[in-house]
Amino acid sequence: MRGRAFKWCIAAVLVLTVAGCGLFRWEKRAPWRDDAERECLASKQVKITEYVEPARGIDGPGACGMIAPFKVSAFAEGSVNLQARQTFACPMLPAIDQWIAETVQPSALFYYGQRVVGLKAGSYACRNQNNAYGGPLSEHAFGNALDVMAFELADGRTITIAKGWKGDLREQEFLREVFVGSCRIFGTVLGPGADPYHYDHFHLDLARHAGGRTICKPVLKFMPNLDPAKIRPVRPLPPPHMSPAISQAAPAPLAPRSAPPAHAAPLGGVSAVPMAPMAVPQPGGGAPRAVDLGALY
Ligand SMILES: [Zn+2]
Repeated sequence: MRGRAFKWCIAAVLVLTVAGCGLFRWEKRAPWRDDAERECLASKQVKITEYVEPARGIDGPGACGMIAPFKVSAFAEGSVNLQARQTFACPMLPAIDQWIAETVQPSALFYYGQRVVGLKAGSYACRNQNNAYGGPLSEHAFGNALDVMAFELADGRTITIAKGWKGDLREQEFLREVFVGSCRIFGTVLGPGADPYHYDHFHLDLARHAGGRTICKPVLKFMPNLDPAKIRPVRPLPPPHMSPAISQAAPAPLAPRSAPPAHAAPLGGVSAVPMAPMAVPQPGGGAPRAVDLGALY
């Protein structure tokens, strides 16, 4: 009996070892990843600050990792905090700053008359897409993706994707405005309705898809209120502890095609086009399940 148990034990170890190695063994690291990272590093677009610190390179397991990661505790010159510090490869940082300046802040000012000052977000994780056993690695495995679960406004209000996507009209419009704007900057944008995994967050990444196409799902029947051609990037304000007087100054004026709604309901100038149907997953018909950030696209 003891000999048989020993054989089973050896077999179990072999199976687990092969399974563990198999998770990442087939995928090779696409050459463009290192090229994009080196190009970004050479461009010096990313500045080291108390909010953006360099970290040691991550080489594996498998194709996971990045040459020169950054640990980030805030974006937009420290004006938009992350609830928890996150690791990114270089190319994501200017893209996220651009997204905040050109999409997030103009949308927040338009719909709420105030800025976003914080994000609940996630980033690097060496795993497959949607935490599947097989299949391609997630862009998160290369520090090339951002998951956003919630936006915190300057007045302390928090708008979550999980509740706000089907929340009040202002929340719905704000989140859709940000979603649509995100598709102008990132290679992949996924949100509620894209698949069963994204009912509670936006996934944004800089994947290079075949033919240079952008994946933006779901397709929304939503007419944005901000005209991309007229949006002026919103410059970051200094973080509060650096200059309280300045940080409380009025936000920079925008150039939306219609006046901000001034907290009125229904929203002035906001289209009443019906929203796209959404497939918000509720496994077993119950309440939405809590999703571990590490298990997402
Ligand atoms: Zn993601």
